[in-house]
Amino acid sequence: MAAGFVDTARISVHAGKGGNGAVAFHREKYVAAGGPDGGDGGAGGNIVLQVDDNMSTLMDFRYKRKYVAENGVDGQGARRNGRAGKPLIIRVPRGTLVRDAETKEIIKDMSDGEPYVLCKGGRGGWGNAHFATPTRQVPRFAKAGLEGESHDVILELKLLADVGLIGFPNVGKSTLLSVVSKAQPKIANYHFTTLFPNLGVVYVDEETSFVMADIPGIIEGASEGAGLGHDFLRHIDRCRLLVHVVDVSGSEGRDPVADFDAINAELQNWSPELAKRPQIVVANKTDIMADDSLLIALREHVEPLGFPIFPLSAASHTGTRELVFKVAEKLAELPPVTVYEPEYVPRPPVVDADEPLEIEVEDGVWYVAGKWLERLMANVNFSDYESRMFFDKALRENGVFAQLEARGIQDGDTVDLYGLQFEYQR
Ligand code: GDP
Ligand code: MG
Repeated sequence: MAAGFVDTARISVHAGKGGNGAVAFHREKYVAAGGPDGGDGGAGGNIVLQVDDNMSTLMDFRYKRKYVAENGVDGQGARRNGRAGKPLIIRVPRGTLVRDAETKEIIKDMSDGEPYVLCKGGRGGWGNAHFATPTRQVPRFAKAGLEGESHDVILELKLLADVGLIGFPNVGKSTLLSVVSKAQPKIANYHFTTLFPNLGVVYVDEETSFVMADIPGIIEGASEGAGLGHDFLRHIDRCRLLVHVVDVSGSEGRDPVADFDAINAELQNWSPELAKRPQIVVANKTDIMADDSLLIALREHVEPLGFPIFPLSAASHTGTRELVFKVAEKLAELPPVTVYEPEYVPRPPVVDADEPLEIEVEDGVWYVAGKWLERLMANVNFSDYESRMFFDKALRENGVFAQLEARGIQDGDTVDLYGLQFEYQR
């Protein structure tokens, strides 16, 4: 059996750590004491997600679960800054939802072409060249680079297609897609089902086109988890319109009315909301109908329910153009494809104030460092007011200011937290 279609994956991503700043001194002949010239560490590489339209499954994530971006390089003497870590670009199929692994909240819907920075690399530490002032000539310290962000996320594929083809295996869904679009799905005359979704662009006229998806087939009992299908239903969650393909030829002894009802019952079981999605019924394989009794029965069944029906033959390309026009007409009336809004709110980092702080004083500048402070700073967005308030509160509640006061800090002194400087006010 072909490898299963993979539509969810859990991965762990780690942005690169910033490089450390260098402690170095300028050395030159005849110069007695050179000044500090340690360069800065480079920033760690980001973790970036990018849509790749050549992908239609999350299979690549089955065996590779951990993604680590490059660290920034440490700074060196002679003010040479370390190189920044390269971003790690993770390619995902269009329509991939990225969720927080714990809360399951949506972080990002990867449905446009814009790259998305999922985790930021850590800032590079300052080399001692930064700390040189006329009065502070010999700074023997530099700052460590900060840790990059990391995150455990779940990827979930919800294809971005206007139209989803539904129906039993072998009724001609893949054939229809190949005829109306340029897609080349696998077409097979056996009761097995497409294992990978295929997407095809259908061109209606110069201005109009839509995307049609041939999703892996739904089989009876699928929504209860029997066999294939269960997982696949999620792919049509976003489709604006469903094209329900039924075999009316009788060549395989199928009963079109029973088939139609069975598939709709599956939809209803999976998601009552999805079951209400507009449907167009395709009565396929009319070229090999012995007579039109099954077609008439199907028509009499679906039309009173409000579904338009299109008899056609996908294999002999009869009636497919009319279907395409009808689909385009219907789509024009429907709202655009759903793009999910982010729900995830980054949680404040865990602060463990029991880890000691290092405090160094140089010429009225108080340099404070510590593991938890570093983690805290890596997670605070200093361009956002709320986040700055949160940061201030965390410093206060965890005794940073109390410790500085105990060491004799005065109003007007400068506090330096990993390069972030501010004037101390009680
Ligand atoms: P799917 O499982 O629904 O995707 O079905 P396929 O597109 O793979 O088609 C199953 C079989 O039905 C293949 O052998 C096709 O060639 C055949 N088929 C599809 N459409 C037609 C049609 O309109 N007429 C006839 N005679 N055969 C068709
Ligand atoms: Mg198929």
